[in-house]
Amino acid sequence: MGLRIQSIQKVYPDFRLQLDFEVRQGEFLALLGPSGCGKTTTLRLIAGFIDPDSGSLHMNGRRIDTLPAHRRRIGIVFQDYSLFPHLNVRDNIGFGLRMQGWGSKDAKERIEELLRLVSLKEYGKRKVTRLSGGEQQRVALARALAPRPQLLLLDEPLSALDAKLRKNLRKEILRVQRELSITTLYVTHDQEEALVLGDRIAVMRDGHIEQIDTPKRIYNRPRNLFVATFLGQANIIRGRLAKREGELAVVQTPVGTLRVSPSQAEEFGASDEVIVFFRPEHCQMGGTKTNRINGRVVQKEYLGSHQLIEVESNGARFTLDLADRVTLVTGDTISFSVSPHHCCLFLQ
Ligand code: ATP
Repeated sequence: MGLRIQSIQKVYPDFRLQLDFEVRQGEFLALLGPSGCGKTTTLRLIAGFIDPDSGSLHMNGRRIDTLPAHRRRIGIVFQDYSLFPHLNVRDNIGFGLRMQGWGSKDAKERIEELLRLVSLKEYGKRKVTRLSGGEQQRVALARALAPRPQLLLLDEPLSALDAKLRKNLRKEILRVQRELSITTLYVTHDQEEALVLGDRIAVMRDGHIEQIDTPKRIYNRPRNLFVATFLGQANIIRGRLAKREGELAVVQTPVGTLRVSPSQAEEFGASDEVIVFFRPEHCQMGGTKTNRINGRVVQKEYLGSHQLIEVESNGARFTLDLADRVTLVTGDTISFSVSPHHCCLFLQ
């Protein structure tokens, strides 16, 4: 069941949001996209802070867009924590419970449960202003979860924290989400966060979702150039579809003939202008005769465990992600190859 967002539309003077997707029961869905693509507006529509122009929302089979925000049973965590500075940790966590009329004994027990869940057992009496950013965000998470919501919405909850804390806290968030099996929608513009956290990732652009899929498929089988270049590093080369060789598409490009096993073969016709895409880590030095590209090393970036090599070939530039032991210097002439099944094809 989970959350169904059905033909939702919201139009602003310079922006149109159009959504039709599902967050499955117990799923962690990461909503990923560049600034201004409509992530926060999506969350606000689901939470009930703004109304859609059309469409409907269903939670576990029941319509919720007709309900006011406080009756939707949704917990929300914002980027800036939004805690009550004059209250201690316990009273912040219990705030929603009081609003919902929980008895004091039940509320007390529930608060203790949540303090344990977010590893803040000893912090109940502490003023929230005396907590670190990471601790404050744990309190915000506990407060959102206290009234047993059916859905958890998180809006860039880690973006105010430093890199190390972000990594620790994202593990915590995932642990808590798994423990409760709560349906979760997590907004981020950080691709690593989306890859690590999401059971699936929805990649958003200009008010709509371009692709919704597992992290692996989004990374290895992006549906279009936007998804391919937004997530991870991409090598692309333009060309023209020459013919088919069984499963393979044969593409003429400025760096030679490339063979691609397209997952969406039926979408392409003879002589189509296409783009061949592959990842830097799928390039190998020398390798097979198929898809061999000759070029010159123009730049090197040493990264400890591996290195990024920029190669120029007939006006095109490629990045190769190679093991540290490969010794190359700027100016070297090399040839590398990429297997057809690591290549994707998009229409230009
Ligand atoms: P960011 O990552 O920067 O937070 P976002 O993906 O969350 O961006 P939104 O905040 O949802 O993007 O905004 C999407 C678009 O909708 C923007 O172009 C914004 O200007 C527009 N927008 C949002 N709210 C309103 C409003 N109340 N009136 C007019 N336009 C709005």
